Amino acid sequence: MSAESPGPKQSGFKSFFSNALRPKKSRQTLRKGGSRSMTDLRLSSTRPSTSADEPLPPMPDLAPLQAHRAKYQQAHANLDTQLGERRDYTTIIHSLGVLEPDDTYGPADINNEYRDPGEADIAKLPPHLWAQIASFLNPCDAACLAISTITLYRRLGPRYFLTLEAPKNAQHRLDFLVTIDQTLPHHLLCFPCGIYHRRTSEGSERLKPAHIINPLFVCPEATNSLNPPPRHRITHGRSLPFAFVQLILRAHRFGSSYGIPVDSMGRRWTRDGWSHTTRYLIHDGRLLMRVVSQTFAEPDLPRSSQRILLHSREDYWPYFSACAHWRDGELMPACRCALDHVPSRRSSGGLQDLEHKVKDKWSGKRFDPNALTSLCGFCKPMRRCPECPSEYLLEVKLSEDRTDMRGGVVFRQAIVVTRWTDLGDGTSPTGIEWASVNGFSDKYDSFTHPNYAKRGIASIFEAAFTADTLPGQRMISMNPKKKKLGEQGHEWY
Ligand SMILES: [Zn+2]
Ligand SMILES: [Zn+2]
Ligand SMILES: [Zn+2]
Repeated sequence: MSAESPGPKQSGFKSFFSNALRPKKSRQTLRKGGSRSMTDLRLSSTRPSTSADEPLPPMPDLAPLQAHRAKYQQAHANLDTQLGERRDYTTIIHSLGVLEPDDTYGPADINNEYRDPGEADIAKLPPHLWAQIASFLNPCDAACLAISTITLYRRLGPRYFLTLEAPKNAQHRLDFLVTIDQTLPHHLLCFPCGIYHRRTSEGSERLKPAHIINPLFVCPEATNSLNPPPRHRITHGRSLPFAFVQLILRAHRFGSSYGIPVDSMGRRWTRDGWSHTTRYLIHDGRLLMRVVSQTFAEPDLPRSSQRILLHSREDYWPYFSACAHWRDGELMPACRCALDHVPSRRSSGGLQDLEHKVKDKWSGKRFDPNALTSLCGFCKPMRRCPECPSEYLLEVKLSEDRTDMRGGVVFRQAIVVTRWTDLGDGTSPTGIEWASVNGFSDKYDSFTHPNYAKRGIASIFEAAFTADTLPGQRMISMNPKKKKLGEQGHEWY
């Protein structure tokens, strides 16, 4: 077949030779007049034009040196293309120099237990000079300096510890006592007294409801209601004493003999028709808590019934877990809005059932009493308290009602309020997280604080337990206008 029809083969050869004789396509484009290369520019500038009527070449946008610089600017900026970091060769060379063995230079080896003692260097300075140095420090730091080595203690003496005894230095005394936490596994720092008490039920401390006396140590201030131990209110009748936050985070930091494991803290209880579940997590050295509270909600509740459902008659706090700032902002209006979305049942008295069926047939829809409830744009997003690390999510869900008298499996619509919060690092109740959650500090701004500016507490918490995290809800401020009316406001009730 190929011998009989040589046409295509010949034409293929022809095209090959014609392509080989022609200059390359890339060169063609380079030598076009529009984008003149630098060689062409130089030639045209050195060689005088032969004919006067020949038009002058167009001026280039940039001078040749400028064009060269612009072209290589990126390559010479020493920027890492992946990380965007500046590659500083001076730093690299200096760090190489430090790696070389050099006995005269060495950084302070704080973490090495067997490092050379520095007492000789300390002893070189006279006591009055050390006293001068200590006079610039606050009482807590001065006491820390005095306790650091025996040489320094001999030079500085016990006077800095006596300073801490003064009532006006109570906070400095607590700050100092917090620093020696690691040396006392069998004791726990009591903040009302400012004393380390011996733990009476070491390792078997259990969180109990607030009305049960649950002493962790013998404390003379235990019954003094004017000087109560720090505690965080979870819900009605449940609170979290700060001592438990101390115990959990001490066990996490220093070892199991210092406290109790975080897994022993989760609880589940029912009170006033609401059921609550708590769970705890240590993240980045801080204790996070999640409280899920739910109660069954009837459809089409009037405002007064919504109040009775949400608020306690004793102190008008909501039954679910809330931070100290719950009265300000949109938390309670959003709860009432969510209650409005509980689907109403159909009345089936008389011929109404038949009427509904005919209407359904007419419209081509089917009525499903157990359909998923969707919330609206106001009550669906998660809310974050702007003044403390607390986040809230509202849901309306079908839940099994085990208390129903009819027996069998009965499902009813329930409102579920989930709160995630950060309780701080457990060193002191004056810590910014603990103080702001309990309403003692207004310095916290949860939307700019580096811990949660980019990622919510809820997503950190849920990602620690499940791979499939929350549905991606928007996170908005609970109090976008930052209006603080407290009890004077009308929206909270
Ligand atoms: Zn005490
Ligand atoms: Zn709504
Ligand atoms: Zn708050």
